Amino acid sequence: MKVLVMGAGVAGLAAAWELRRRGAHVTVVDRQDRVGGTASWFAGGMLAPWCERESADEKVTEIGAAATDWWADILPDRVERNGTLVVAPARDGSELDRFARRTAGHRTVDETELGELEPVLSGRFRRGLFFEAEAHLDPRAAMRSLQMLLARSGCIFRLGEDVAETDSFDAVVDCTGMASPVDGLRGVRGEMLLLRTSGIRLSRPIRLLHPRIPVYVVPRGEGLFMVGATMIESAADSSASARSVMELLNAAYALHPAFGDAEIVEIGVGVRPAFADNFPRVSRHGDTISLNGLYRHGFLLAPALAADAAAMAMGIREAAHG
Ligand SMILES: Cc1cc2nc3c(=O)[nH]c(=O)nc-3n(C[C@H](O)[C@H](O)[C@H](O)COP(=O)(O)OP(=O)(O)OC[C@H]3O[C@@H](n4cnc5c(N)ncnc54)[C@H](O)[C@@H]3O)c2cc1C
Repeated sequence: MKVLVMGAGVAGLAAAWELRRRGAHVTVVDRQDRVGGTASWFAGGMLAPWCERESADEKVTEIGAAATDWWADILPDRVERNGTLVVAPARDGSELDRFARRTAGHRTVDETELGELEPVLSGRFRRGLFFEAEAHLDPRAAMRSLQMLLARSGCIFRLGEDVAETDSFDAVVDCTGMASPVDGLRGVRGEMLLLRTSGIRLSRPIRLLHPRIPVYVVPRGEGLFMVGATMIESAADSSASARSVMELLNAAYALHPAFGDAEIVEIGVGVRPAFADNFPRVSRHGDTISLNGLYRHGFLLAPALAADAAAMAMGIREAAHG
């Protein structure tokens, strides 16, 4: 069974992995000359099924709960299982209560425990919510490692290619994100920053609640932090706006003033592909299977959706021979 995977973002790489696991001969093409996708490249890499319940359907938590094990089985050194900490400035305590009511899988930590979990935040917040079972990874490093393992297992990568000839393949899995022809996709623009400072050490993603601009900071190691992200109903991938950058920087500064001295390493923009219900879909059109609409849950939901897409692709061959 020969399968062409179009797109080497998190969806395409996860699909390639699930196809290889089922014994398919897999070729991955991407129009960019590297793996890592477009939206995927700018992701926070949070594997946070319980926190996400604040704004997402229950299905996201149910399906996403298995994602950390999927990533850790394949890339044990890339997954940090240190949980997520959610905090709010004292004046926004009601935001923390609201977040607690809308989510599960957390416990309240007081100022002392908060300081034990993240010494750099000692004395800065009176209480927080600790989602102990959550995890995070560095998306770019994880996707590069996945590519290496896939290549070692015989998967062929054709990078820097836009259009691929598909006739010699039994099935095509379209993971082209916003470029896909699939109906009903919209873009949700996310602006993010990479900051570097030696003045702050964090072990886990911190979400800072705010009624207007909730943000998160994800540690990437060696003093690097991802600060994200805006949620703007737009498919425009133009440069980040000054307002968004100011808001992200303000929020990082509110979390800890040492971010004020940080070096701005990168200002990035990714467009999240989403359907109307913000839930991803695997669909089939002839011999092409589409995996898309991962919205803000690419790293969280790609493993499960990729398994569905791979099973569907393998079914094409079985149906042809059955
Ligand atoms: C700022 C930000 C933060 C996020 N944080 C998180 C997070 O913490 N946790 C989480 O789970 N999710 C997060 N997400 C969501 C996640 O990044 C997306 O859901 C996911 O990246 C979508 O992946 P994808 O593979 O479908 O698309 P993409 O990453 O966009 O990949 C599509 C690929 O298809 C290629 N392509 C397009 N057309 C063609 C063609 N004709 N031929 C060949 N290749 C083609 C493109 O070059 C690209 O590489 C975040 C997103 C953003 C923007």
